[in-house]
Amino acid sequence: MKSSSYIEISRSAYKKNIRYLSRRIGKQVKFVSVVKGNAYGHGLETFVPMAEQTGIDYFAVFDTAEAEIVNRVKKPQTDLMITGFIDHQDLSWVIENNISFYVFNVERLKEAIEVAQNISMPARIHLELETGLYRTGIDNENFQQVIQLLKINKSHLFLEGVCTHFAGAESISNYYRIINQIQSFNNLVELLKYHGLQFQYRHCACSAAALTYPQTIMDLVRIGIAQYGFWPSQETKIHNQLSKGVEFKKDPLRQILSWKSKVMDIKNVPPGKFVSYSNSFFSSRNLIIASVPVGYTHGFNRSLSNRGKVLIRGKFAPVVGLVNMNMFLVDVTHIPFCHPGDEVVLIGAQGKRKITVSSFQEITNHLNYELLSHLPSIIPRKIIE
Ligand SMILES: *Cc1c(COP(=O)(O)O)cnc(C)c1O
Repeated sequence: MKSSSYIEISRSAYKKNIRYLSRRIGKQVKFVSVVKGNAYGHGLETFVPMAEQTGIDYFAVFDTAEAEIVNRVKKPQTDLMITGFIDHQDLSWVIENNISFYVFNVERLKEAIEVAQNISMPARIHLELETGLYRTGIDNENFQQVIQLLKINKSHLFLEGVCTHFAGAESISNYYRIINQIQSFNNLVELLKYHGLQFQYRHCACSAAALTYPQTIMDLVRIGIAQYGFWPSQETKIHNQLSKGVEFKKDPLRQILSWKSKVMDIKNVPPGKFVSYSNSFFSSRNLIIASVPVGYTHGFNRSLSNRGKVLIRGKFAPVVGLVNMNMFLVDVTHIPFCHPGDEVVLIGAQGKRKITVSSFQEITNHLNYELLSHLPSIIPRKIIE
């Protein structure tokens, strides 16, 4: 291996996640795999074909740059949607490639109609409605104008979906906000139908919504974090553990990603020495220190200095001293026979032990999203069974 670390993606773990999620969501509901942020750090080029082999036939990305990558690696018949940013000049490429996209304001709708007309191909759109997130979405005051535009320009538009997004379905503290959003979304959908508009999919559920509020599972779900084997939050996990009918002793979701490196060097440190840069770690006795060729440039956060841990020879080894740009040190005094070339697990399992992303970061699950998506795309990814 030329790279100092690599990422493994487990196909069998992914299959298990999809099997579990499909059972929870229902076979008749369209499953859209959300792969923004380089497939939550799993690597688009590696993840997309593997997901296709598991039966996924619809992906969602955030912008045109991500759409270009997925469009290049996906099967021709696989569907793709852009939920966020598209520059005006890229809209014709999006429409030509039959990629569906969110329309969240009047300008985007007019733009879509104009480009579709110019290139004589209908724009495949999902109308994003404001229901209480106050981020993006068609506001009430523009609703009538949007309905008129949709009615007049039917030949240039294929209204594939009507959708919204929740303001934090992973936390009970947002309960009333979410319930109001669901109500508001259902009312707006009825209003669109009343005006004679037809659409294929109503959708609003992300992982947390689908797993906590079953009524949000409509015609289509947009699943991100759960397919990678993470609960959106500890609350979502506990809610699912406690609710009748879905009791589980063993976690039904499996992390599909592991991040591994190798011991680069071993060094004896006598008592009374500062280890690595600066004076943040002091040896109080004879220590054996191993260097791991991974640093903050690779996404191993500097906040893990003197706090993180890795697995070597099936045992935990604590990070000592500061995480450097390309390297950090771990204490392996308690690990017999540790030597250069030994496998180091930064995330994932080794022997009986496991490092989850959140314990790796030692804070809340919420950081799973952030930490995963910060794994640099330059680290090689490979599929394992
Ligand atoms: C990221 C995202 C999702 C998926 O969210 P998860 O919590 O990862 O399941 C769904 N919909 C939209 C619009 C998103 O941006």
